[in-house]
Amino acid sequence: AEGDQAQEVYIVEEGRVALDMGLSLGGHTKRRATIETAGPGQAIGWSALTGTQTFTMTARCLDKTRVMAIDAAQVRQLFDANSQLGYRVMQGITEVVRSRLNKVREVLAYILAIASHDLKSPLHAVQSYHQVMLGGFAGPLTEKQKNMLVRSGERILGLLNLIDDILDVSRLEAGEIKKEKLDLAEVTQSCIENVQTAAIEKEIRLTCELPGKPCYTMGESTRLQQVVNNLLSNAVKFTPGGGQVSLRIKEQDDSILVEVSDTGIGIPSDDLPRIFDDFYRGKNALPGGAGLGLSIAKKIVEALGGRIWAESPYGESATGSRFTFILPRTAAGGQE
Ligand code: ADP
Repeated sequence: AEGDQAQEVYIVEEGRVALDMGLSLGGHTKRRATIETAGPGQAIGWSALTGTQTFTMTARCLDKTRVMAIDAAQVRQLFDANSQLGYRVMQGITEVVRSRLNKVREVLAYILAIASHDLKSPLHAVQSYHQVMLGGFAGPLTEKQKNMLVRSGERILGLLNLIDDILDVSRLEAGEIKKEKLDLAEVTQSCIENVQTAAIEKEIRLTCELPGKPCYTMGESTRLQQVVNNLLSNAVKFTPGGGQVSLRIKEQDDSILVEVSDTGIGIPSDDLPRIFDDFYRGKNALPGGAGLGLSIAKKIVEALGGRIWAESPYGESATGSRFTFILPRTAAGGQE
């Protein structure tokens, strides 16, 4: 079952096994979804081999099924007892796992293609009908009807943004990012304006510490704004009224450091190692997110040769979170 630590690796001999996971998109309640099915020759439960992590999904037999079970602890012990044999067994299992992962990638590419065309185009069509109606071009509307249209329009926009986020994940994984020389201080300044209204509404003090001279790096400005926007909007979202959110940019020898800290509710220690994973949402998560913001930020920073991490609590404070990323510094005159 999902959440249990896998003890055995199973290789399906006959029949079919569905692998299910509880998924929650856009802050809705979790629904169980079948992520994939494993058939003869395919392995399931291989996270058992690492011995420490719990990545399992729920395995459900769809037909009368026969599997071969391999005790993962014994495979790990085999390494100590006879490393050559252990290596050969592991190599065999890895080969079986690899074939399953290749299939998963094909399925993912297919789902993303559906997401981009079959989901986005009808939503765009609905959006333009909304605009026509709201503009009064399809006859007069009552206040109540207008409000309903505005509210449903917001839901459509949320869905379109979610689809864009999912597409972003795949584009970034394919390494689609530009590298142009830009001033990181200038790029991030506009992000402050984006969260200002939300911060004022919650009476959160927003401070910004910049080095006072350009900080050059190689990157794509819209992508870097996406990183900083995500960090700042999370900071404002997870900080109660009256708190403080700070953005700091610092030049180091060969890198530029960007830090977003808040005095908010903090991140529970068991969530901390997983918050950059795709679709991961912590115990403290608030409605209206899909758990993709940080994973997209990480993919962008790493595609540009940088690193991103989170600390909570940080420094002297007992609460709050601090997100930091560093990017390689580019000399003022040169290209790289
Ligand atoms: P989302 O905000 O859509 O849930 P993110 O990928 O942006 O997804 O964040 C993942 C999770 O990390 C959040 O659900 C939340 O639990 C945690 N998190 C992110 N930023 C903060 C923060 N500044 N303070 C506390 N928790 C945070």
